[in-house]
Amino acid sequence: MEVPPPLVLKRALFVPSKTLMGPGPSNCSQRVLEAMSNPVLGHMHPECLQIMDEVKEGIKYIFQTLNDATMCISGAGHSGMEAALCNLIEEDDVVLMGITGVWGHRAADMARRYGADVRYVEASFGRALTLEEIRFAFDTHKPRVFFVTQGDSSTGILQRHICEIGELCRQHDCFLVVDVVASLGGTDFLMDEWKVDVAYTGSQKALGGPAGLTPISFSKRALTHIRQRKSKPKVYYFDILLIGQYWGCYGTPRIYHHTISATLLYGLREALAHFCAMGLKKVVQRHQECSNRLQLGIEELGLEMFVQHEPDRLPTVNTIKVPFGVDWKKVADYAMRKYNLEISGGLGPTVEHVFRIGLMGENATLEKVDMVLSILNEAIQSIKLRAVKAERSKI
Ligand code: PMP
Repeated sequence: MEVPPPLVLKRALFVPSKTLMGPGPSNCSQRVLEAMSNPVLGHMHPECLQIMDEVKEGIKYIFQTLNDATMCISGAGHSGMEAALCNLIEEDDVVLMGITGVWGHRAADMARRYGADVRYVEASFGRALTLEEIRFAFDTHKPRVFFVTQGDSSTGILQRHICEIGELCRQHDCFLVVDVVASLGGTDFLMDEWKVDVAYTGSQKALGGPAGLTPISFSKRALTHIRQRKSKPKVYYFDILLIGQYWGCYGTPRIYHHTISATLLYGLREALAHFCAMGLKKVVQRHQECSNRLQLGIEELGLEMFVQHEPDRLPTVNTIKVPFGVDWKKVADYAMRKYNLEISGGLGPTVEHVFRIGLMGENATLEKVDMVLSILNEAIQSIKLRAVKAERSKI
């Protein structure tokens, strides 16, 4: 039987314009979108390699690192997580997962697949880990690798004290992996100064680039360890010795590893250029100002933030408790239907408990904060009113 061409593909492509204020992606700027409509280059063409070099410099700036092994993994944020763990972990290594939401659990799932002996240190519900909890876990488990998420987008928790954790890891001869997918640009992150061994971020969050290329960096110490592994990393596609060679990280001739998406590269390059032009400090300040205004507005609306302890709140992804008796899904649907605005529900431990409002990149402006507050309030009131009417109609 012949399979006919699908009728749906005869129709013109339709993409609505939405304001993306969930946990990511955020909206790309016009500059980024236009960059991505440039002609495709071959993945080994000198112009493409030049753009990769420029991207590398941008990543070093946003991570505040001088690491040679700074590059992108071709894939979404998960590919950064895979690459970090795949390259560091050898069979039976003890890997300690710092848990403040779903991301530590997801990393644990990956680490186990790479043969790790996974242990946990879990923060109490709605809180970040304390240094005492981490120190105690280090003494108990003596980990080879410690994984922690700086900004957990499932709970809206900001894990502070990365600097002290970096020091602790050095004292225990342990490698520190920090997921900064949702936090970079919204809060300080100083990779070298804080002695972080591996960090990766999302291109589609505060950076405002397209999803699909994940900036990642490995410290000299991590790279030395990887070069001395007893066995090769288990996944060829994530082998950073090979990827780094393609990215020209090690001063050796560039060798083809995979076909990078040239268009995503242009988009990321422009997102980084915009970020660098504004300056790291200003970007962080803007995200924090927006979150402060949102938190104030939430209070004024009589709503409550999920993370009780203010310093533990992640400015980029804000979690707000769903008021009692309100169906979060109906609120989110209302905002989307009427305003093409994305407000998200919870994830993992916060499912059904919270709204997640992302203030990232293009959407980290005071105007957008006021807009999202006003729509959230309107949506909640409307859903409440509908519920009252439905109740009355039963009487
Ligand atoms: N880590 C964190 C903290 C995230 O917020 C996300 C995405 N929400 C990821 C990892 C995974 O990123 P991606 O969806 O791009 O694979």
